[in-house]
Amino acid sequence: MRRLKTREVRIGDLLLGNNHPVRIQTMTTTDTMDTIATVEQSIRCIEAGAELIRITAPSKKEAENLLNIKNELGKRGYHVPLVADIHFTPNAAEIAARIVEKVRVNPGNYVDKKKFEHFEYTDREYLDEIERIRERFTPLIRICKEHGTAMRIGTNHGSLSDRIMSRYGDTAMGMVESAMEFLRIARNEDYHNIVLSMKSSNPLVMVQAYRLLINHMTNEFGECYPLHLGVTEAGDGEDGRIKSAIGIGTLLEDGIGDTIRVSLTEDPEFEVPVCKDLVKRYTIHKNQKNIDKEILTVDSLPYSPFEFRRRDTIEINNIGRKHVPVVIADFMQEKPSKEMLHAIGYNYDVSLDKWHIRDAAADYIFSGDNQIDFALPGTLKVICNHNCWIETKDRQKYFPLYHGKTYFETTAHSPVLNFLSLDTNSDDAYDLLKKLKNEISVVLCLWSSHQYPMLSVRRFVIGLMKESIMLPVVLSVESGDSTIDEQLIHFSAEAGALLLDGIGDGIWLMNDPSKIKNQKVSGRTYLETKSNHQFLNNTSFSILQAVRARISKTEYISCPSCGRTLFDLQETTAKIRSVTHHLKGLKIAIMGCIVNGPGEMADADFGYVGSGVGKITLYRGKEIVKRNVDSAVAVDELINLLKESEAWIDP
Ligand code: SF4
Repeated sequence: MRRLKTREVRIGDLLLGNNHPVRIQTMTTTDTMDTIATVEQSIRCIEAGAELIRITAPSKKEAENLLNIKNELGKRGYHVPLVADIHFTPNAAEIAARIVEKVRVNPGNYVDKKKFEHFEYTDREYLDEIERIRERFTPLIRICKEHGTAMRIGTNHGSLSDRIMSRYGDTAMGMVESAMEFLRIARNEDYHNIVLSMKSSNPLVMVQAYRLLINHMTNEFGECYPLHLGVTEAGDGEDGRIKSAIGIGTLLEDGIGDTIRVSLTEDPEFEVPVCKDLVKRYTIHKNQKNIDKEILTVDSLPYSPFEFRRRDTIEINNIGRKHVPVVIADFMQEKPSKEMLHAIGYNYDVSLDKWHIRDAAADYIFSGDNQIDFALPGTLKVICNHNCWIETKDRQKYFPLYHGKTYFETTAHSPVLNFLSLDTNSDDAYDLLKKLKNEISVVLCLWSSHQYPMLSVRRFVIGLMKESIMLPVVLSVESGDSTIDEQLIHFSAEAGALLLDGIGDGIWLMNDPSKIKNQKVSGRTYLETKSNHQFLNNTSFSILQAVRARISKTEYISCPSCGRTLFDLQETTAKIRSVTHHLKGLKIAIMGCIVNGPGEMADADFGYVGSGVGKITLYRGKEIVKRNVDSAVAVDELINLLKESEAWIDP
């Protein structure tokens, strides 16, 4: 796999960029003034595999205490480079840059204070503002140069300055320009020990911003600086992993990214294994020969990688065109019973002889060679192998699946809907592609036996687009990974990357549950409480929700917490989730501090933000509605706010 070539950056003894391995990092959540707690948490992260440790330095005293932390780590034999995380306080940055190996500045708030105000700037006024930034930022650059300190210019979608917002809005372009302004100043000082990031809680915005940044750096400087990848406020558990894997995995799939951090609302040592699982998917061992075929190159893309547009398709039954992507539940290995359908969103009430259908209910089941021997709920349809389909009587409910060229070897087709499973890495894939031109009832179920299946499937879909073949595509993704975490990451990166490029009218996840050895996610034993069908169904709907293609549940945007956090974020997130999880489509942010929280909570509908010890401030969008509520009653107050805002329904 080819990687994007970037400049080499030195962070202490660690080299980053220029094809060095993708470095793994995390951030402490302890109070920076608590030296021992911070050192001990850092050590847990280092032992887990973190190669860089970031620590918040909200003011001068925390910046100064980084020396004690560094010395204590050194005394205990740990010399991993430290990164000071700076927001709003150039003074703290200038102290930290003399102590630690790297400082992170946020161009949205390093000089500017965000007031959520809109001003119109003339070109002259805009240039004057940039000059003001130059004056305030240059001393830090000079200190970094003198001390050999690296820097991350870390843009966050949620904390763009009012100035950038006024000119570009909260767009990917605004994020890019925000970083480029700082980068130009650094280059003018001949300072290049720089890493950049473009984080957002929305993986789509994040991916577009990184791509755009690469494009702009290449056009303006003829070279790229290393990239730190991350999805902010991803949340916890499965959803946090899925969102992170979609954003980070999509870019890694394309060889983009030099260091990654997965932000979970969990202890930071739990972030590290997720990073490792993500990175190892793209690591080719030196003695491993790549036996796969080269993926055909393309001269030009038939779609823009910088803006989302769903691929145009025809509508076949309830698939394609304007329909939300369908979910196919895989029952190839076991014949489904009424009880088993509970796992995919259908509850059978024996006393009423009725089905209750949940929001996250699969649309199709694949039953292999089996017909179903009970009456199915009205909205659920069955896909079976075409030999089995020929025997079926109910042609409204059952549809055939063909494998590769077998579709063209028979005329026994459904007049309405046929599924065609195709390995895009097979020798005849592109010959079959040409034969699809006049088909009007075929939904393609695409998968690939290539080492990098996503790239192979995407290339095939580009072929469809170039031939103007508008058949819908179901993303068929199989995982043979041995842990639940690895499977979540595999499904999310493979399917999510295509969905973010507008490709995918359905999703069909498959695995062999007997191969899963480690069934834990965040210490919870997953498959003890949920069946494998439930796992695959939840993962399918969560992926579709994370790319905002199909909304089936409440969305939580929660920060990972840091030394600024003023309450137990993990416990509070769980509490809020337990009372609001039925509010489909609502976005609720749970943020640790009032300094960065409101800016970072992106497009949340409601916000629950720590504003002092034992105090919570509640937001409706960006507007403060209840200030400094006692934390003992804050969740009840949040529910009251949802009721007042007509966003509440009884569970
Ligand atoms: S929003 Fe959360 S992670 Fe960000 S600075 Fe505040 S407490 Fe720390």
